[in-house]
Amino acid sequence: MRVNAYAAPAAGQPLAPTTIERRDVGPDDVLIEIQYAGICHSDIHTVNGDWGPQPFPVVPGHEIVGTVVEVGSAVTRHRVGARVGVGCMVNSCGECVNCTNGDEQYCLEGMVGTYAGTDRDGTTTQGGYSTHVVVDADYVLSVPDGLDPAAAAPLLCAGITTYSPLRRWGAGPGKKVAIVGLGGLGHMGVKIAHALGAEVTVLSQSLKKQEDGLRLGADHYFATNDSGTFEQLAGSFDLVINTVSAHLDVDAYLGLLAVDGTLVNVGAPPEPLSVNVFSLINSRRSFAGSMIGGIAQTQEMLDFCAEHHIGSEVEVITADRINEAYERVLASDVRYRFVIDVSSIG
Ligand code: NAP
Ligand code: ZN
Repeated sequence: MRVNAYAAPAAGQPLAPTTIERRDVGPDDVLIEIQYAGICHSDIHTVNGDWGPQPFPVVPGHEIVGTVVEVGSAVTRHRVGARVGVGCMVNSCGECVNCTNGDEQYCLEGMVGTYAGTDRDGTTTQGGYSTHVVVDADYVLSVPDGLDPAAAAPLLCAGITTYSPLRRWGAGPGKKVAIVGLGGLGHMGVKIAHALGAEVTVLSQSLKKQEDGLRLGADHYFATNDSGTFEQLAGSFDLVINTVSAHLDVDAYLGLLAVDGTLVNVGAPPEPLSVNVFSLINSRRSFAGSMIGGIAQTQEMLDFCAEHHIGSEVEVITADRINEAYERVLASDVRYRFVIDVSSIG
């Protein structure tokens, strides 16, 4: 099946309309007509070659919401007409210890990314900036009725990437959580941490988005361009989630942790981050990372968001504005996720 899409033809090149081939629907597959696709900063890192060479042309998009239009003969999990989502992975071995523990994103054979990945049949995956996608049913999520489809799309990456570490490190009543960077991931982190009952602080470069941060559920908001912030908040957080896409002074943020506190990096800048071990030794702190979340936890997150009426704050755009949106994300001018109306690709 040949479908319309937007692809980056080469590293750093603007995205342009094209067509791509989707495989036939196999017995375990679901064919999805895509309605919305979020723009994640990871799409931009990939297209710009920040993370190394990619199999261009690349159709990005791993925050996908759409409707099932066909299911394979063996599929029982999803039915035609259902609203579904696809996140950052579309396959994994299903058999290793991590897959069987529900951590498919850490599959020992390597999870298959939704785009620029090599699927288990050897083909290169292409993502959600396209009208249709065929995905193994086990990697397709149900989007609860209560969620607005455009606002739900970013949950498939930004939502789970913040939900997973917030749960893993026990964000909840009595816990002080800081979210660094109020972008796509950051604003979801604020909403989810607040819904989990934690005391939430936003650490943003400036006070420009303070009103928004407080409206989204933060209890406190500080600017990191004010060095007084680091003195005032020293030793105060149980958990700091760093969503920043660029280099950051890790030691400065470790200094904000209380004894036994953890700094979890979900931001994935291209260059290495350095740590002075004394920032850890002093106060028994941990520095950790986390990648998206498993399929079962992604479904749990979607159900949690529906129950708590949580969606992303989105700016819906037509596909001809993708390149402009990329520029705005790079300039930290996103409030708080661009979502492509995929009907404009048709
Ligand atoms: P985003 O919307 O661009 O948000 C990043 C935020 O970081 C910006 O809004 C800005 O917030 C802050 N920031 C940007 N440049 C900065 C700088 N030079 N210094 C300090 N702060 C800066 O991006 P996103 O989509 O949320 O993604 C964030 C990062 O997470 C990316 O690297 C992405 O690849 C990565 N990611 C990782 C995973 C995972 O599984 N671990 C999943 C998805 C994305 P303020 O304006 O508030 O300062
Ligand atoms: Zn993403």
